[in-house]
Amino acid sequence: MKTLEGTPSRRFAPIIGEIALRSRPFYARSRAILVTPRMDRGALGYRACLTSGPAGRFFHPDHLFGVDGLEQLGDGDIVRLDSAGKAHVLWETGSAHNALLVTEACNCSCLMCPQPPRAHDPALLCEARAVLDLLRGRSLTQLCLTGGEPTLLGEDFVALLRRCVREHPEARIDILTNGKAFADRRFAARVGEAATPNVLFCVSLHSEIDMLHDTLTGAPGSYIATQQGIYHLAEQGCRIEIRHVISRKNAQFLESFAEHLYNYFPFCAHYVFMGMELCGNAACNSTVVAVAPYEYQQQLRAAVLALARRGLPVSVYNIPLCLCAPEIRPFLRQSIASWKNIYLPQCDSCERKEACAGFFGTSASLPLDHIHPLKKEEVCFTPPNDSATDAEEPGGCP
Ligand code: SF4
Ligand code: SF4
Repeated sequence: MKTLEGTPSRRFAPIIGEIALRSRPFYARSRAILVTPRMDRGALGYRACLTSGPAGRFFHPDHLFGVDGLEQLGDGDIVRLDSAGKAHVLWETGSAHNALLVTEACNCSCLMCPQPPRAHDPALLCEARAVLDLLRGRSLTQLCLTGGEPTLLGEDFVALLRRCVREHPEARIDILTNGKAFADRRFAARVGEAATPNVLFCVSLHSEIDMLHDTLTGAPGSYIATQQGIYHLAEQGCRIEIRHVISRKNAQFLESFAEHLYNYFPFCAHYVFMGMELCGNAACNSTVVAVAPYEYQQQLRAAVLALARRGLPVSVYNIPLCLCAPEIRPFLRQSIASWKNIYLPQCDSCERKEACAGFFGTSASLPLDHIHPLKKEEVCFTPPNDSATDAEEPGGCP
């Protein structure tokens, strides 16, 4: 999450509001956070303010002063200010990677989780609702509910999904989930009732071998539950995406995993192979799970082509173009959220940089070997599949 820092004007409870880069009429200020070079009378009436200048006087709204990097904020971004002096960007206008983090709790403990689970904090759900309040009436193309495991909220999750669908009927709504909760057929039915064809359930499945999947998720029985969950969602007519995070433990089985998808889950809307973000649990367990894309280049090629040749919509997220076999480069997507997306100095001379996912700036180490600039003609692009999402999950469940 993009975060700016400054100094709080005083102690205050967290404030959520939408960024106003220009002055608004007085009646339209109460939900806005003004970004201003100096605190003066123009700051009156706003929910809060951010300034690169000095503190305002006592009658000004709560604010952070001396904030660096204000130029990174866009008009309409939704931000949470706290009295620790931080401004967290909860929603970036124009970004394709926005997500509402509704809980950090999870019923798995994956070896490669980029955001290790924590006890549920009800404030996150309140925050998600506050963001939705501010988004009401906007025309969105994309919305994502993530965790932790969002379905652990039970009926609160169903209500949140209903609200998203009702208030943003045009938006693609992605649910990032490990799918275990849908092993309960009644819960799957409740969620299925709430979902529309715009809702995509992005279910993580890390192996076709039950013991290996359970080892990776740190939760015995999770393979069976996730598999049942996928079938129960399909029974409800829900659209499903299967997400497979590639690690050292499963990289050698990519082709047989693809065969498994084709044989047992051919009804899904989309299939994704994902490079790993080496932070959180993944960084702690790097000796066990870290693997460079170059090491599984041929396995990934075989897996992607096995699905594509059978007409199944497949994509690859989070892997640089030059680390993949040329034949599968058309399936790669720019999938890393802009705030943590970085490139290397040698990328400056690459003629395909604009189409390359690049790297996670949050990773503890980067796969530096075999990176080489590409010529335009080295990648022949086809249009993305209709059902392809282009969003890597912002934290939590891949
Ligand atoms: S050299 Fe080009 S293809 Fe390779 S990582 Fe950099 S931008 Fe991507
Ligand atoms: S990766 Fe997803 S399923 Fe696994 S522990 Fe993290 S949030 Fe839970």
